[in-house]
Amino acid sequence: MENLFDTICAVATPLSAGSIGVIRISGEKSFEIISKIFDRPAKPGMINHGWILADETGEKLDEVIVLPFKNPKSFTGEDVVEIQTHGSPVIIREILNLVMKNGARLAHRGEFTKRAFLNHKIDLSQAEAVLDLINAKTSKSASLAANNLSGTLKKEIDNIRESIIEILAKITASLDFPEDVAEVEYAEILSVLEKAEVKIKKILENARCHNVLREGIQIAIAGKPNVGKSSLFNALLNINRAIVTDIAGTTRDTISETLDINGISATLIDTAGIREGKEVDTVERIGVENSKNTIDSSDIILCLYDGEKGLETEDMEVFQLACTAKNRLYVETKQDKTGKTLPSNVYNAGQNPENPIIISSTTLFGIENLKNAIFNAILGSNIEDSGFLTNQRHQEALQKALTHIENAKNASMAEELQDLISIDVKSALLSLGEISGEVVTDEVLNRIFDSFCIGK
Ligand code: GDP
Repeated sequence: MENLFDTICAVATPLSAGSIGVIRISGEKSFEIISKIFDRPAKPGMINHGWILADETGEKLDEVIVLPFKNPKSFTGEDVVEIQTHGSPVIIREILNLVMKNGARLAHRGEFTKRAFLNHKIDLSQAEAVLDLINAKTSKSASLAANNLSGTLKKEIDNIRESIIEILAKITASLDFPEDVAEVEYAEILSVLEKAEVKIKKILENARCHNVLREGIQIAIAGKPNVGKSSLFNALLNINRAIVTDIAGTTRDTISETLDINGISATLIDTAGIREGKEVDTVERIGVENSKNTIDSSDIILCLYDGEKGLETEDMEVFQLACTAKNRLYVETKQDKTGKTLPSNVYNAGQNPENPIIISSTTLFGIENLKNAIFNAILGSNIEDSGFLTNQRHQEALQKALTHIENAKNASMAEELQDLISIDVKSALLSLGEISGEVVTDEVLNRIFDSFCIGK
């Protein structure tokens, strides 16, 4: 029967042809298994080079590198063996089957990382960082996930918790030993709670930025046919993905690509030329419908008009489709033909049609300005780099902690009984403990690790 700490194995690299494949084994039978299938003793802490042998025939299956890690000095905290094979899916599968035949079972999603957490090698925020690092879409989000992995968020939360634990200990001592320990001054309790509140609020202020960095944004390029949408799409991506022609209505469907805008992963969508009228055929009409849906689901809309023609009523009609609640930036195209220079007010450029961002997709004039304007429109110009990333689960826990701290603060200001205050202080601590996983239910654990891939 399967138990929590039996020996598990999985392929840790993508199962496709590549230069190497890695099979990971973790659990108490790891060393025993490798001793049965490797043609020489595998020494822990050493790089061992040799052959994996088929167990019955003794046939050489693959020339490999074997890395044994003796517990607790391993990723999972258990005995771990990593086998580096040649990157052939056939060989990798054969060796994996051999490992299973000799006593390991196939790991569940995220089971290696879950064991690392259960064996106290990493806290829950670090375990989540492993997944964030794998899924990071830009170098900025990867670097913040790496910070979390090194324990930056954990340290920040521990820091907040420590001062709260200290004041709770004082309150508890005075409640338990009223004759020996004096009641804690309300002012002292308030001061600790206020400092914790400020720190939590600061983290939560960056929550939107963290969500954008983790999840990315969607940008729609909107405008009449021939204003230069596809050309801008190409200029931003620096590739020739969309078809560019002089015939109105060539871009019939939405085309999307992902690019990095100052650290934000942005899915850029070139909408079909939105135009109504008798020359619109059925296929194009479907494209027009898709464009409207795309615009509705985008975080920001680039409203393009042709600089040579100037802003026309028809342009504004197309932009009306872009819902007013959304971020939008006005962009005047074809600067190489108009010869316009940068507007005097570059800072607010794009926010209204009188002060558009002026670009040329041909010469790339203004493209960097446009990228900066998109970044500022999404995150504002003065975001603070907190050095870590929070996710929705962390943010919910912080919000709960904040509510308890506010309750405790109000009770302290009203000089209520300290055992009542301590209830909220304890609850705040429990909520903060959810972030590192000190207080965590199986349901939450399963939800987190189920989103991992097998082998991680
Ligand atoms: P869309 O229908 O809005 O996607 O427009 P396209 O990107 O297909 O461009 C329509 C025409 O305008 C094409 O002939 C492009 O070469 C031209 N065009 C687009 N952007 C520029 C630009 O910045 N400068 C110049 N000179 N021509 C451009």
